[in-house]
Amino acid sequence: MTDDTFYGSDYAALRDFDPEVADVLLSELGRIRSGLQLIASENLSSPEVLTALGSTLSNKYAEGYPGRRYYGGCSEVDKAEELAIERCKTLFDAEHANVQAHSGASANQAVYGAFLKPGEKLLAMSLPHGGHLTHGTKVSFSGKWFDAVHYGVHPDTEDVDYDEIERLAKEERPKLICAGGSAIPRLIDFERIRAIADEVGAVFWVDAAHFIGLVAGKAIPSPVPHADVVTFTTHKVLRGPRSGALVCKEEHAAALDKAVFPMMQGGPQMHTIAAKAVNFKECATPEYAQYARDVITNAQALASGLTEHGMRPTTGGTDTHLALVDLQPVEVTGKDAEARCDAAGIVLNKNAIPNDPQKPGIASGIRVGTACLTTQGMGTEQMATVADLIHKAVTEGDGDPDGTVSREVRAGVTELVEAFPAYPR
Ligand SMILES: *Cc1c(COP(=O)(O)O)cnc(C)c1O
Repeated sequence: MTDDTFYGSDYAALRDFDPEVADVLLSELGRIRSGLQLIASENLSSPEVLTALGSTLSNKYAEGYPGRRYYGGCSEVDKAEELAIERCKTLFDAEHANVQAHSGASANQAVYGAFLKPGEKLLAMSLPHGGHLTHGTKVSFSGKWFDAVHYGVHPDTEDVDYDEIERLAKEERPKLICAGGSAIPRLIDFERIRAIADEVGAVFWVDAAHFIGLVAGKAIPSPVPHADVVTFTTHKVLRGPRSGALVCKEEHAAALDKAVFPMMQGGPQMHTIAAKAVNFKECATPEYAQYARDVITNAQALASGLTEHGMRPTTGGTDTHLALVDLQPVEVTGKDAEARCDAAGIVLNKNAIPNDPQKPGIASGIRVGTACLTTQGMGTEQMATVADLIHKAVTEGDGDPDGTVSREVRAGVTELVEAFPAYPR
């Protein structure tokens, strides 16, 4: 594989016509290759997925669904969408799949469109405790147009407070209950929330954006048998194209399909749908199942490495691909930690911890995920080294890329990425 053929389409032609954009594509690849990518919502999708994304299917208008389109010429893109739907249903053992959502947020919009009228009530995890913007925050359509009530984590366990969900569900009688979020390191008790939803007659929605890849690899229990609808992104641990999808019970299929199109979206992105089909095929392999297990083992190794350095993973560790790390014990803010790591070639994000005394823009924690490093083939031995490097950058660095500590840490990073390259040549 060479950089010229890497994008599936003709990179050499792009370079000749538009060197400025071609340079961006190549220097971004260089950025990925030269650092440690620890952002928990990112991954490195395969050349095969990228090839489908860079294909002429991007040209096709195909409003509607396979066999029921509003445009001619859909014979070939129909095949791509049918493959994506069938593979998605098989992968998740789901009654129905819709693969047209442009993103995780779009898939979530469809859930609101299918189940709630403006002003109706939703119960979801609060953003500062690990939820998501689209779960009823004031800055999102979901909080502006719907009446959102939020649960959080228990102060002792720092894990989802199921008693609070039950209490709020009974008091507030929401029409929709949402589980899932962006910074939940532990497994979610889907049975428990299903029972609560049944008791109050609510629809049970799981936003599995972060962990669906672990479900696809059968490394953690699936929400699909328990939830009315499961929305997800396809580009996080799952490792597909940047996009979204949903699976649901047959009884909700028509309402959700109508909510995706024509209620929320126009023409589907057929190149992305083809890339989702490729990704679902990848996820059905034994290699991917091993990958999903390794992602968790690595996250646990990284969390315990950080613990040894006095950095505290909330809930004491992780069952998934991510750890949320409280930096108060080492007296560094999330903002400073992010900048110090960035200067040393370690890419991660600051993150609020439950009951964070700092403002969200500062935050007391960082969030780290192992999806990318595991794709690169790193294992638990490397995770110990990564923990050492993070600790050194966070506690000794000053955010100056040319500073001594940044340079020392970057040397360690370079050693790792040379042994475990992203997108090997
Ligand atoms: C990432 C994420 C989303 C949004 O996905 P986008 O593709 O960025 O729109 C929604 N919900 C959760 C829980 C997420 O983690």
